[in-house]
Amino acid sequence: MSDSKSIQTSLVHFDYTPPEGFGAFPVPVHRASTVVFKNVEAMRSRDWREKNSYTYGLHGTPTSFTLEARLAAIEGGEHCLLAPSGLAAISMVNFGLLKAGDDLLIPDNAYNPNRELGRWLAEDYGISTRFYDPLIGEGIAALIQPNTRLVWTEAPGSVTMEVPDIPAICKAVRERRASGQDIHVALDNTWAAGLAFRGFEHGVDIVMQALTKYHSGGSDVLMGAVITRDKELNHRLGMAHMRIGFGVGMDDAYLVLRGLPTMKLRFDAHDASARKVASWLKTRPEIARVLHPAFEDCPGHATWTRDFTGAGGLFSVVFDDRFSQGQTDRFVDSLKLFSIGFSWGGAHSLCVPYHVQGMRKNWSGKGHLVRFNIGLEDPDDLIADIEKALGALSQA
Ligand SMILES: *Cc1c(COP(=O)(O)O)cnc(C)c1O
Repeated sequence: MSDSKSIQTSLVHFDYTPPEGFGAFPVPVHRASTVVFKNVEAMRSRDWREKNSYTYGLHGTPTSFTLEARLAAIEGGEHCLLAPSGLAAISMVNFGLLKAGDDLLIPDNAYNPNRELGRWLAEDYGISTRFYDPLIGEGIAALIQPNTRLVWTEAPGSVTMEVPDIPAICKAVRERRASGQDIHVALDNTWAAGLAFRGFEHGVDIVMQALTKYHSGGSDVLMGAVITRDKELNHRLGMAHMRIGFGVGMDDAYLVLRGLPTMKLRFDAHDASARKVASWLKTRPEIARVLHPAFEDCPGHATWTRDFTGAGGLFSVVFDDRFSQGQTDRFVDSLKLFSIGFSWGGAHSLCVPYHVQGMRKNWSGKGHLVRFNIGLEDPDDLIADIEKALGALSQA
């Protein structure tokens, strides 16, 4: 943040000047396809790259400009570009920085659509995409080639929960950049919401957020953001944003703005409940491992302790390998308070079984993985629900 207020206060108070004579807290929803100009000279003098004026609906209105400024401040960045989904934000980074002949590194446990996009870029767009071990740390240096332009990171991987050593990866990339290579580190910071992990302070160049999750908090908006500190880098990404034609609906931008004052309170509540449920699961004989970064048996736990200040609601467990896929599927089906769904960060608890062995190379262990998103229900009710479903599992 640019001042010394705590993050919670900054989420409530921010610079916004309401219209004269209409003092109110909400930022208005300014919708427009076209922006009209006073005269031709005014039209010619405006440049969409400079955020001091408005040029066209796709390039933003006062509503989206306010959201972008707020998101940049939350992450400790300077510039922000909005995209119609978290995945669109990922593709903005890839299309902004990569061209045929370039090399792209993606962690092997990354959000699967990010990996799918990487595979497509390799198949049809002449980019060599390689998947690396997320726990590689400073070993990434040996993988960086002269044509490597972009290293994605995700902290932690949102299914296996392995926590990468982001500062070590950034150090290796910075060294290459110091010797003249055009290469950047992008971070998918969705798990930590920009609250529990400060990407720029740990050396990343680009922070990407799926605002769909904690920022909105309502399970009713899809939106993404790409945040940078460097003006030139923001400009490169802005060119992709402009050329592809990414735009967001201003009603959706408003919904995200509406979620921000409560985001940290919600995040902290998700965090406390998730740790309570995860601690209880750890005592259960049906569960072989609890993959929650705050727990010792989570790969990268020491890195999480060093670099993170919280956790949120998402974690996974690995069932004892005496249980079949059919049995763990039935466990998920028999939960009453957990819905089966992918997009977390809202008030409702969710649960999804994953075939992690097919997703992640060298995944050790045979037990089936189930991911929980702990919502805002009373955690004791969630535990009682899981306990019942575990009972059914043993009888099955
Ligand atoms: C949900 C999610 C995304 C993509 O967000 P969408 O808005 O659903 O496209 C990207 N990364 C992570 C880690 C996510 O959880």
